[in-house]
Amino acid sequence: MSFSLTILGANSAQPAYGRHPTAQIISLKNRNFLVDCGEGTQIQLSKYHIKRSKIDHIFISHLHGDHFWGLFPLLDSMMLAGRKKTLHLYAPAGIWEFKKLYRQLSGNFDYTYPIVFHELHADESRIILETDAYTVSTIILEHRMPCTGFLFQEKPADRKMIGTKIEAYQIPYTQIPGIKKGANFTLPNGTIIPNNELTLPPPAPVSYAYCSDTAYTESILPIIQNATLLYHEATYLEDMKSVAKERGHATAKEAATIAQKANVGQLIIGHFSARYHDLTPFLQEAQTIFANTALAEEGTVFEVG
Ligand SMILES: [Zn+2]
Repeated sequence: MSFSLTILGANSAQPAYGRHPTAQIISLKNRNFLVDCGEGTQIQLSKYHIKRSKIDHIFISHLHGDHFWGLFPLLDSMMLAGRKKTLHLYAPAGIWEFKKLYRQLSGNFDYTYPIVFHELHADESRIILETDAYTVSTIILEHRMPCTGFLFQEKPADRKMIGTKIEAYQIPYTQIPGIKKGANFTLPNGTIIPNNELTLPPPAPVSYAYCSDTAYTESILPIIQNATLLYHEATYLEDMKSVAKERGHATAKEAATIAQKANVGQLIIGHFSARYHDLTPFLQEAQTIFANTALAEEGTVFEVG
């Protein structure tokens, strides 16, 4: 299954040195999910040739402006482009209040396409979107206001049938779907052929955990454990650890410590403070703890798994 992440922006509150506030595209099963929508997101979408019309789900982690100031221009552009299909918006309740106020101040206009609003609650992790192939769940983060991350997780695929066994045991095709799901096969004489003789295990399901603004907290470890790819904010370097904690943010070293404790496959760090021009020290600091770390540089595409 195709599953990738494109970084559109990874700076913190202020754009600086050509870096934009937070926004990402997750491409999964031929769908594009927009995660956070900082100022300039639609310009970044154009720059990286991602069509607005292909986005049907938008997730907003929290109500600090650098994570949603790009949302309403994007919603307007979708309307101006003649959008008719439904858009799903997952966000804290305040976003819907913004939308209502904007509508009121703009002469009672409303969007020409349906927007289904899914209110996020930052109290406990829950599944907010589920299909046959994947789930999206919230991750409860520790920030200065309610804030949720998002876990995109493949469901385990069916086991793979060993073709030669079908003929060898004369397995009727009607039984194959059940065997792929783990059933044994019984021969006409009553002998049971165990499933592991008939099938091979599927590839391990892969996952992407997005941990937006958060202080260092080990409370997220259970839900992100063994994630294939983890994005964790790293607003500051370790010498500003106390400032980071006070502002509900993390350092590069703390992000790497979380990655190590969660045993993830790869770590991406972002949400860099505008005080830093050169990001190399972030990478160096994180890699002292977790070697497989990358910077969330705009335009970079990371394959998940
Ligand atoms: Zn924030």
